Amino acid sequence: MANVNERSFIMIKPDGVHRGLVGKIIKRFEERGYKLVALKQMTASKAHLEEHYVDLKDKPFFPSLINYMVSGPVVAMVWQGLDIVKQGRAMLGATNPLASAPGSIRGDYSIQTGRNICHGSDAVESANREIAHWFKPEEINDYASPFISAWV
Ligand code: ADP
Ligand code: MG
Repeated sequence: MANVNERSFIMIKPDGVHRGLVGKIIKRFEERGYKLVALKQMTASKAHLEEHYVDLKDKPFFPSLINYMVSGPVVAMVWQGLDIVKQGRAMLGATNPLASAPGSIRGDYSIQTGRNICHGSDAVESANREIAHWFKPEEINDYASPFISAWV
C-alpha cells in the first residue's frame, strides 16, 4: 500500500564527504520532493559498520569495504516520502558506477564500485533496521511541510 511517510536510510560515504558532494546530494532529494527528517555527520566505528553491512560479511571485499567506510566521516540521513526506498535506489544508481545511468548520483560522480559515494536502503525492512541502527528515535524529527503536502 502507498505510504506517504515511507522512510529510507541514505548515507554519504567518506569519499562523498571528502569530495565536497554533501550539498549536491542533499539537493537532489530535496528537489525531488522528499523530506529530510534526520541528519548527522559522524565517523562510524568499525564495529558499527560491520553490523550495518552484516549481510555482506562473507564477501571477499568485506574487509576493504569496512576500511573504506572507516576512512573518514559519513553523513547519515533519513529521508521520507512516497516510495523513497525504491526511488532512493534509482537516484543513487547501480552498485557499480560504470553500470549507473548518467543522471544518477553514482552515474554522475563516480567510476568505481569501491568508491561509490553513497548508500541507500534496498527494502523497507532493511531501511527500518538501518534507521534504528544509526539513529535514536529522538534524533528523527518529522514535521508538517505545507510545501510538500500541497504540491508534491
Ligand atoms: P549497494 O550499496 O548498491 O546496496 P551492496 O549492498 O551489494 O551494494 O554492497 C555494499 C557496498 O559494498 C557497495 O556500495 C560497495 O561500496 C561495496 N561493494 C559491493 N560489491 C563490491 C565489489 N565487488 N568490490 C568492491 N566493493 C564492493
Ligand atoms: Mg546494499
